[in-house]
Amino acid sequence: MKLKLHWQILIALVLAILYGLFLPEYVGYVKWMGDLFLNALRMIIVPLVLTSIITGVTNIGSEKNLGRLGLKTLTYYVVTSLFAILVGLFWVNLLQPGVGANLGLTQKVTGLEAARQSFGKTLIDIIPKNIFVAFTKGKMLSIIFFALMFGYFITRLGEKHRLILTDLFDAFFEAMMKLTMFIIKFTPLGIFGIVANVVSRQSGHLGALAGSLGVYMITVFLGLIFHATITLPTLVKFIGKLNPVKHAKAMATALLTAFSTSSSSATLPLTMEAIENNAGVSNKISSFVLPLGATVNMDGTALYECVAAMFIAQAYGIHLGFIQQIVVVFTALLASIGAAGIPMAGLVMITIILSAVGLPLEGVGLILAVDRILDMSRTTVNVWSDSCGAVIIAKSEGEKLKVE
Ligand code: ASP
Repeated sequence: MKLKLHWQILIALVLAILYGLFLPEYVGYVKWMGDLFLNALRMIIVPLVLTSIITGVTNIGSEKNLGRLGLKTLTYYVVTSLFAILVGLFWVNLLQPGVGANLGLTQKVTGLEAARQSFGKTLIDIIPKNIFVAFTKGKMLSIIFFALMFGYFITRLGEKHRLILTDLFDAFFEAMMKLTMFIIKFTPLGIFGIVANVVSRQSGHLGALAGSLGVYMITVFLGLIFHATITLPTLVKFIGKLNPVKHAKAMATALLTAFSTSSSSATLPLTMEAIENNAGVSNKISSFVLPLGATVNMDGTALYECVAAMFIAQAYGIHLGFIQQIVVVFTALLASIGAAGIPMAGLVMITIILSAVGLPLEGVGLILAVDRILDMSRTTVNVWSDSCGAVIIAKSEGEKLKVE
């Protein structure tokens, strides 16, 4: 009997943790498997997203449908991210993890200023100067914009050319999906390499878990667990009228990969494959909701931004009043939208909130030591929220799903 893929991944995860803990000096022998796997995923992201969106849009039919889908999707992103932030705000005010924290533990983080880009600039850059530069740099929002426009104008062509291009991109997308499924078979090996390497590098930080940083981590975990197991499943059950447990099972492989890679973007091919093949969402909807979600909708990151900024304020003994906490809520939302779907993106984005409420930017160094495990956890919630959005929206568009 062949073990299901998510069990294989789970076993690989446990073995990798043991390997990283007990054989850290031999990690070079296995790290390459993780590198190969990540390279393969990154290799397919751009063509997969491009062809999937073009195919999706050409199948949507009219611009009225496109507008309605867009509105639903953006509403879902903003509402769930705000819910997540409020949950984080609740826990951080209740547990107060930063009060009395030892500021002497601050580590230096470089490149904070450079990483910060104004929200306005991010919006302007959605229209790329050069689409090929956007492809090579993996600028997701620009690629999505271009694909949406391209797909839309294919539908405006005369019959002959419209059919040629629709068929061409359908075929291209089908081939990309096949390639994706082939790469996914190697997930257990890839994850073994990635996680063994991460654990071997992080085990030195275990001492940090005692004291305030430990409480800080628990605060983030409690918030993430609440959002992932209560808020989102409630929406899936009552708005989507779907079975959240079945849906979680359908997404298991993608969620484990998100946890192991700390990257929503790298996980995107697996999320798309699972949502279409296991949950039964049409490409028309998944191609719209998921690529955009991987860059814009980050509930886990939003929650984390809020808790981290409040923790830093508490550690520096700066009291944030009601109005300032509202500023934290909205800047946390912006920071989560602006964060790229790559490891540690959320950490540097905290500087947006810190400068909005006048906190020292070096505060980020306070939480660096424990960022990786929090990154893994928040990325899982980011991908989980994208997938819940996809099934809820698909259902609201009258699709028949496999996770009812
Ligand atoms: N690593 C996260 C993601 O890819 C972003 C973050 O750092 O919060 O979704």
